[in-house]
Amino acid sequence: MTVQHKTAAAAAPVHRLKTGAEFKATLNDGRQIWIGGRKLDKVTDEPALAAGVELIASMFDDQFKPEFAEATTYVEPASGELVSRAWQVPHSPEELAARRKMIEYTSLKTAGTFGRPPDLSPAIVAGLMAHREAFKDKKSMIEGCDPDFVENIEAYMEHGRSQNLTASESLAGPQTDRSNPKAAEMAFLRVTKATPEGIFVSGAKTVGSIAAQANDIFFTNLGGLTTTPPEACVWGAVPINTDGIKMISREMVSQPGANRFDHPVASLGEEADQFIIFDNVFVPKQKIFNLGDPAGMSWYGPVCVFAHWHVLTRLAVKAELFVGAGQMVLDVLGTGKIPAVQLMLGELIEYAQTLRAFIVAAEALAKPTAAGVMTPDVSMLTAGRLYSIENYPKIIHILQELCGQGLVMRFGKDAFENPEVGHYLNDLLPGHGVTAMQKELLMNFIWDMTSGALAGRVALFENVNSSPAPRLRARLFEEVRREAFVDQVKTIAGMDW
Ligand SMILES: Cc1cc2nc3c(=O)[nH]c(=O)nc-3n(C[C@H](O)[C@H](O)[C@H](O)COP(=O)(O)OP(=O)(O)OC[C@H]3O[C@@H](n4cnc5c(N)ncnc54)[C@H](O)[C@@H]3O)c2cc1C
Repeated sequence: MTVQHKTAAAAAPVHRLKTGAEFKATLNDGRQIWIGGRKLDKVTDEPALAAGVELIASMFDDQFKPEFAEATTYVEPASGELVSRAWQVPHSPEELAARRKMIEYTSLKTAGTFGRPPDLSPAIVAGLMAHREAFKDKKSMIEGCDPDFVENIEAYMEHGRSQNLTASESLAGPQTDRSNPKAAEMAFLRVTKATPEGIFVSGAKTVGSIAAQANDIFFTNLGGLTTTPPEACVWGAVPINTDGIKMISREMVSQPGANRFDHPVASLGEEADQFIIFDNVFVPKQKIFNLGDPAGMSWYGPVCVFAHWHVLTRLAVKAELFVGAGQMVLDVLGTGKIPAVQLMLGELIEYAQTLRAFIVAAEALAKPTAAGVMTPDVSMLTAGRLYSIENYPKIIHILQELCGQGLVMRFGKDAFENPEVGHYLNDLLPGHGVTAMQKELLMNFIWDMTSGALAGRVALFENVNSSPAPRLRARLFEEVRREAFVDQVKTIAGMDW
């Protein structure tokens, strides 16, 4: 990427933004991807991934459009350069709110179907920046390589910002026999060799959404403090085309090339999920953020705070789309005066408002870390994320319920335009104040959001992508202090013990 001026105006700051075309050019770099046993020459050879790449590329182009400039870019105070807001590290409540605008923008752009849009993994780097004081006194516990973690965290943030970088984050390990701790350990990514210049790692990361469509992979192992062996205590980042990285993609679930009328969301493609194999991958010393220190691994929760805030905000945006779509169903079916139907929409509204309330609370309770980074309240985020995924299936079901037969009895643009039968559909299926085709377009949107294969993948993603509900409950047990509540009970009940 060449450094350019955003506009010809003399006062315009130098920018570090990529266009969509520049972003796409970075993906043709020899990365190794397989789908269904077929090796791709480039990621865009798979139509569903290519459509997803186009959607991401349009987010890069949007950075140059006045209507999206505020949400997607900001002037970095240290450099005076115009950069992607994805790489902003908030230091005040105002900057936190401004950074959220970017999450809302990427969530709307993908209708919430991309859990790892380009601003997600920078949120983890921002989390490392927020807690970099904790990494200050840490030293490598693997002999032979001695990175400076804090210097590397700061340099990676600067690198991402100056390159308008996209990255995937892969923290979870492969699914193995969970009854056997040794099996989980075997699946950890681990250091096989350390040299003064860097380390070699082997193993695998699971899922790593969007990796095939991004520039870098940002990785660590999720492990227990006591069970993670030192050679598996590693945080780092490398370009996804690094020698030894092989990606095996899951089957595709979107409908690229479909008519936009038939599939308003699924035709936009999808974010990739892939099993990522590391076969003696070299990680330069400058891209290592923890090496061999089990205590460093315990920072997973705090470091992921911005990523979890992202997850919850995206779900709130999607919940508002559900409310909008639900209201439109009432309008076009003329069911809005039926009290039972109003109550169903009320449940969608309750869900959306509750998610917003958690976000407002997490931001209102935000505190600066020792490094001066303003971070949302973790326990509010955990409670909000738990509420969001517990209720997601119910919300999807209510939206489906509101639609009745219309959600299944969809016929497609070609049927409506068929000279022999199209007029029957057009004449016999109009809605309240809308044509039959206008009604069907709404149903097609809701199908893609709730019922098709893409929606199925997204629903499963929502359920586990940043910890399934049972683990979130366990986190709440750890995070929320209860002594004051116990004292209140004792005071009211007159318990003097
Ligand atoms: C589509 C998709 C995309 C994803 N994207 C990413 C990504 O980009 N980056 C990333 O790092 N990860 C990603 N994940 C992985 C996600 O982090 C894991 O799926 C999640 O951590 C759950 O782990 P697991 O699937 O290995 O569950 P398993 O460990 O195999 O457990 C299965 C189930 O058992 C229960 N369970 C297991 N252990 C416990 C426990 N200790 N306490 C309570 N309940 C438990 C839970 O209900 C759990 O769902 C993605 C997953 C999916 C499906």
